Order: sequence, then C-alpha cells, then structure tokens
Amino acid sequence: MEQEKDINQFDIPFAKRSHINNSYSALLKKILIFSPFLFFLFSLTALQLIRKIELEPFSYFNNQTDVNYDQRILGHLPYKEIPKEKLVLIEPNIEVHIDMRDSLLKMREEAKKDGIYLVFLSGYRSINLQNDIFYSLKSIRNQEAAERARVSAPPGYSEHSTGFAIDIGDATQRETDFEIEFENTDAFRWLKKNAAKFHFKLSFNKNNKYIDFEPWHWRYEGSIEALKVFESSNRKL
Ligand SMILES: [Zn+2]
Repeated sequence: MEQEKDINQFDIPFAKRSHINNSYSALLKKILIFSPFLFFLFSLTALQLIRKIELEPFSYFNNQTDVNYDQRILGHLPYKEIPKEKLVLIEPNIEVHIDMRDSLLKMREEAKKDGIYLVFLSGYRSINLQNDIFYSLKSIRNQEAAERARVSAPPGYSEHSTGFAIDIGDATQRETDFEIEFENTDAFRWLKKNAAKFHFKLSFNKNNKYIDFEPWHWRYEGSIEALKVFESSNRKL
C-alpha cells in the first residue's frame, strides 16, 4: 500500500511533465513547419510597406494629404497687413515697405541705364482694398472664388498687404499691364535677368498649380523681415 502510494506520487508528476513536453514539442514542430511560410508573409508585408513609403512618403506618415498645414486658401498663403509706420510713398498711389524702397528705386534706375523703362503699377494694398478687388471683380466677372483666386488673392492672403510686393509694367507697352503678354516685353526680360541683384523674385511662376503665372508681380526678399514674411512660401516650393 505504502509502495503503491509512492508510485502514484512518482507517476503523477512524471505524467504531467510528459504531457507538457509533448504539447510543447508539437507546438515547436508546427512553428518549424510553418516558419518558412511565416517568414515569407512577413517579408512580403515589409516589402509592401517600404514600397508604399517610397511612393507616397508624405501621405503615408501623415495619412492626411489634404490637411491645411500652412493655412492656405485656394493656394494663397495668409499675410498680415504691414503697420502704417513702415509704409512709404514712392510716387502718387504707390506705397511700399520702407525696407524695399531703395532697392526698388535703384532697380528702376539701373533698368533705365539699359534703355528699359519700368513702371510701377501697384504696391501696398490694404486688406480692405483687396476685399473690394476680390469680391467686386469676382461678381462682375461672374466667377466662383476658386476661379477668381487664380488671378487675385482673397483678402488677408495677398502679398500686396505686406508692402513687399510690386506689380511692374513696361512703360513702352502699357497694353501689357497685368497681362500675361507682359512676359514678352523687354521689361520682363530685363527683370528676369536682373531682378535678383536687387533682391526681387517672381512670386507666381509657371509651376504654381493654383495661381496663374503673373509675370508682372514681384516680391522683395532683401531684408530679414521680408524673408520671415515669405518663409512659408519659400519652404513649400
Ligand atoms: Zn501683384
């Protein structure tokens, strides 16, 4: 009796261990059998992930391509209105940021030396004026906001309200004022070649998918304040 008890005591733990060992090794076997398949599946998923990140890194990491990070409206960035004390009148009806006055006037003088006559069409425009331009012209032309925004910024979104933008024409071909044909004038050719020397840059080139090409519209980037104002715009290009 005592011996039987001893055997039972010995058997039970042994039986349990053997059961555990069996199921463990069965699991191990299964894993070993399926491991090539699991490895293949894992590699395939990893490859697909890498390909997706390579193809669309922005959309993958943000998963929200149309989130408006820089607060653009219809392709235009928001701009604050320049404080009045920083505005200077350079000729009747043309006010600009004091930082760009000298450079702008110098550019016109240098152009004249080359036989090119630049004419300033529009400098600083208040947000109120931009409001009138955007909404009145839009209704006159029976255009929707998105169409109008291709040729004019919504109020609060115009570079003109910063005082750092200037629309330029050719004094010998006034019919091209604010027209795409301005790009065929001597004035535009001269600006393209020389404006950067005076820290001016074309704001809306032909690569912009929201805003039409504006060969007459230039902005000044020759001061820290101006660079700060256009930082977002330059970063996105
Ligand atoms: Zn303009």
